[in-house]
Amino acid sequence: MAEHDATPSSNFIRQMIAEDLASQKHEGRVQTRFPPEPNGYLHIGHAKSICLNFGIAAENGGQCNLRFDDTNPAKESQEFVDAIKNNISWLGFAWSGEVRYSSSYFEPLYGFAVQLIEKGLAYVCDLSADEAREYRGTLTEPGRNSPFRERSVEENLDLFARMRAGEFADGERSLRAKIDMASPNINMRDPVLYRIRHVHHHQTGDAWCIYPTYDYTHCISDAIEGITHSLCTLEFEDHRPLYDWILRSLALDSIKQASDLADSPAPYVLPQQTEFAKLKLNYTVVGKRKLKQLVDEGLVSGWDDPRLPTLAGMRRRGYTAAALRNFCESVGVARSESQVDLAMLEHSLREDLDANAPRAMCVLRPLKVTLTNIDEPLELSLPNHPKKEEMGRRAVPLTKEIVIDREDFRAELEPGFKRLVAGGEVRLRGAYVIRCDEVLRDANGEISELICSADLNTLGKNPEGRKVKGVIHWVSATQGISVDVRLYDRLFTIENPEAREVEDFTQHLNADSLQQLSGCMIEPAAASPDAAQSFQFEREGYFTRDSEDSTGDVLVFNQTISLRASH
Ligand code: ATP
Ligand code: MG
Repeated sequence: MAEHDATPSSNFIRQMIAEDLASQKHEGRVQTRFPPEPNGYLHIGHAKSICLNFGIAAENGGQCNLRFDDTNPAKESQEFVDAIKNNISWLGFAWSGEVRYSSSYFEPLYGFAVQLIEKGLAYVCDLSADEAREYRGTLTEPGRNSPFRERSVEENLDLFARMRAGEFADGERSLRAKIDMASPNINMRDPVLYRIRHVHHHQTGDAWCIYPTYDYTHCISDAIEGITHSLCTLEFEDHRPLYDWILRSLALDSIKQASDLADSPAPYVLPQQTEFAKLKLNYTVVGKRKLKQLVDEGLVSGWDDPRLPTLAGMRRRGYTAAALRNFCESVGVARSESQVDLAMLEHSLREDLDANAPRAMCVLRPLKVTLTNIDEPLELSLPNHPKKEEMGRRAVPLTKEIVIDREDFRAELEPGFKRLVAGGEVRLRGAYVIRCDEVLRDANGEISELICSADLNTLGKNPEGRKVKGVIHWVSATQGISVDVRLYDRLFTIENPEAREVEDFTQHLNADSLQQLSGCMIEPAAASPDAAQSFQFEREGYFTRDSEDSTGDVLVFNQTISLRASH
């Protein structure tokens, strides 16, 4: 990891792990996992979970597995698997060994289900989904026992085998745990362990037509992988009793035999589930379902739209992995949910880019300037970073015709305006002080060109006998390169589009979240094929070359973030 990453601060999970190490609970091992479901792209919330799981393992000499929690094949795909792997590597983390898949444990999972049936702890139920819901009861009323609850072990084994063999239609039967229909915790009211789904799976093909549920799969997958600490988000707190029930109902020895630790002489210790609060950011959405809706309905250009808080989108926008890691560390880990201010993320980003992004000049709204006393092009040498000489220098051509930003010129004097005015002077960044001698207008009266003269005695020194305060950026009109620039604003106009009272979050999209500028002019060095991808455009902000749309004749730069917070 990069040297300037924030130093870790303590939190309840770090403390728990320190205690477990001290007491030798897991023989001194720390083994975590990051378990995404491949049904969408990763977002900033996942980054928090990734930093936590990989970070905490690394800090304690342990390992973190990447496990795709792929038990719901209808919504999953290989595209998502590939994107997730790519995102994690980009964030700067390496998983332990091969990528894991819950689906690769389908056979042992089936075997453990048979074990539960044999112990009288699971049964095949013929209730339809609707009927089962009705039997389940509510938060205030206990459920009722299924009429199929007392089937014999032999009948259950036979029916479960026939479920696997494909004898029954989707939804016709299910395998349920036999726990307690009167439990105050609805998760414990005979939860479903297996469903019949005649669907193709992206990893196992057509080998299975019964699929285990998330709750059943997750705890056993953790146990098989010898996970010591299973960190998940708060909504799973009420599932923890089920997590523990399933593992404790199985013979410990049979788990160990099926696990990565089969050959270890150490006693086997079950994994511990611990919950932490989800990360939420204001002015955006992080729910995968909502992100998917934005993508599927074409409200954004794709999962990697630079306005989205997906890792793919943020990367394309120019966010750096170091900034995201620092942000996740500074947000901390807590047990209560809160919405984090986007400004905090932007602060981490500016800090990283200010320190590391090379500088360049790009004029977003060009106004032509002719320098009457410059005839031969001049090659200036400017530092790539004002504070880091080691980042080198670049050649910047100064020519007779240049462009400056329209915003940097006023035809009339304006109080407080320190840039160029008719008859006034300003310094061109890294070059001469110029004076505006004449303003040309087109047929509509719009300013079309400025005629200026340079004070040739001002390269690297102040003009004599007067002070020139303003400094503006500029680009050669003849040697600069025309590029497109995309400016971004918040995706939503309201602070919490995910709030319960918001009926249709898509109604609150910011219509001005994307502004496309064409004909912007960038200095040639920054547009060359071997140039850096990301820059601070002086006086404008941080920008990065768009990885998707820069392939044609015109380069496209995405605004990563403005120089200073404006909201
Ligand atoms: P979503 O709520 O966006 O649909 P999910 O929890 O269904 O996400 P998974 O792919 O199952 O998505 O998540 C993988 C891991 O990332 C889980 O351990 C989950 O708890 C964690 N995670 C998901 N969203 C967040 C978040 N906003 N903050 C922190 N961790 C998260
Ligand atoms: Mg999930």
